[in-house]
Amino acid sequence: MRNTLDQFNSIVKDLLEDEQSNPVAEFVPSNELYENLDLSLNESGIPDKEFESALKDLVFKTPRTATNAFFNQLFGGRNEKAVLGDLLAVILNNSMYTYKAAGPQIGVEKITLREVCKLIGWDEKSDGTYAPGGSMTNYMSMVMARDAFDRDIRNKGVSQKMTVYTSNESHYSIPKNAAFTGIGREQVRYVPSDQYGKMDPVQLESMIEEDVKNGFAPIMVNLTAGTTVLGAFDPIRSVRRICDDHGMWLHVDGAYCGSVLFSQKYKHLIDGIELVDSFSFNAHKMIGTPLSCSIIVAKNKQHLYDSFSNDASYLYQTDHDEFNLGKTSLQCGRRNDALKFWALWKSVGTSGLEKIVDHQFHLADTARNYLRNNPDYTLYSYDESISICFNYKGIPARDICTALYEHSELLVGYGSFDGDEFIRLVTINAQNQDSDILNFFQTLEKFVEEHSEIFERTLTE
Ligand SMILES: *Cc1c(COP(=O)(O)O)cnc(C)c1O
Repeated sequence: MRNTLDQFNSIVKDLLEDEQSNPVAEFVPSNELYENLDLSLNESGIPDKEFESALKDLVFKTPRTATNAFFNQLFGGRNEKAVLGDLLAVILNNSMYTYKAAGPQIGVEKITLREVCKLIGWDEKSDGTYAPGGSMTNYMSMVMARDAFDRDIRNKGVSQKMTVYTSNESHYSIPKNAAFTGIGREQVRYVPSDQYGKMDPVQLESMIEEDVKNGFAPIMVNLTAGTTVLGAFDPIRSVRRICDDHGMWLHVDGAYCGSVLFSQKYKHLIDGIELVDSFSFNAHKMIGTPLSCSIIVAKNKQHLYDSFSNDASYLYQTDHDEFNLGKTSLQCGRRNDALKFWALWKSVGTSGLEKIVDHQFHLADTARNYLRNNPDYTLYSYDESISICFNYKGIPARDICTALYEHSELLVGYGSFDGDEFIRLVTINAQNQDSDILNFFQTLEKFVEEHSEIFERTLTE
């Protein structure tokens, strides 16, 4: 193992050094992948030196998500203490289903969940779990909503038409999960959003009433805290009242920006969060832990047991259910996703998590100010969002994003809202400084100037 750890250290040291001067990895087109890299698996093994160089080549050509040139997705950066926690989780290799198999690591998971519930303002009746991603925490919320509506479904299966409501700006996991839960994609109702990308509660209510008239059973509303494109926050309080009137479950999908919970300054964006039935967020997005680190909490933990516990005498042989976390989890064997979050939280404190969140909004302000003061840009996003949506000189967003990628300049994506397509810069890497954001725009401008031939058609139109 010692030798292998030396190999690890040496590869990582070289990578970190190289990331400084080359924040974007060499572009490997997918159709040349197997010629460009030796990924072949053969009958016989290879000498260790050869193995190490194949591994290093692979590592070096892999997209670099922790640098100041990666703005492509809703994660980025590298929080050292969280990385340390995750590396130790790999070495320890526990499975989080029982106290017998995970010991004190169970306490690590439980205490992070307890503190999250406390920040929401919930009492001891609440609890949560970790699942492999925000899509899966959303899935768990839909299963709980379904079972809370009719607990017989768990045994007898679905027999009536249920409907679920989500905004037209929400994540694509909602229709997927409707298929998984037996509710069906056709029973997902997409509620229109206002000009800021927030769900319109008036339309929500009339859609629910229409469905009731037509014999459907409305069971759940999914709200989004940080929509995938604009980063908008749906209104919680007004929707809670509607859910109460119709006996519906209310979930908030905070995968992207639910971590505003940690910020005194931005917590108001999820005003009313204590009123929901379940809430999920990805610590691997705003908090910047390694993937994946997805949490769901429920106001009443009984729903977690009702939907996810199953007796298994070969597994649960000791200790109380409270410490056998397999009783409330989606999976059976489950990696320790809590340790990385705990390690970071332990080292920087809640105030440190708050600083991480606040800094992302600060970087977003820096980006918006730059765009507002530069007539070559059109800005599409609003204040209090860390998604900065814009266009440059009227060039189609996808053309710029693709060219920047293929020339290994910047990784950034595009999205659309209300008929406009635009570049989406996400200021989620809290290790970035103002200068990194300004550097992003300067790199983009210089690139367009030096590669005018790519954009000629649009620029001359
Ligand atoms: C990222 C995201 C998800 C999905 O989370 P994964 O961890 O990628 O599965 C769900 N909802 C929203 C709003 C997201 O931004």
